[in-house]
Amino acid sequence: MSTKLKHQQQQSKDGGNVVGLSRCTCEGCNKKADLMNFCQEHYDWFKFGLITKEGKKPTDFDKKYQAWVKHHKAA
Ligand SMILES: [Zn+2]
Repeated sequence: MSTKLKHQQQQSKDGGNVVGLSRCTCEGCNKKADLMNFCQEHYDWFKFGLITKEGKKPTDFDKKYQAWVKHHKAA
């Protein structure tokens, strides 16, 4: 318990200044950004055209999402 608390304090102390602590750009995602400004999952989405680099969904998102799901099932 105390270890967890300490970790949170460290995070807020570093807040903002540290490169690499940025969050995923995708709307509604709170994961840490690993690649570009996305978490690994949403970077995959970005590569596939499911979201723009601003983290927004295109108008034909549903269609692209279906294709993406198929692509991943096949892989
Ligand atoms: Zn994400």
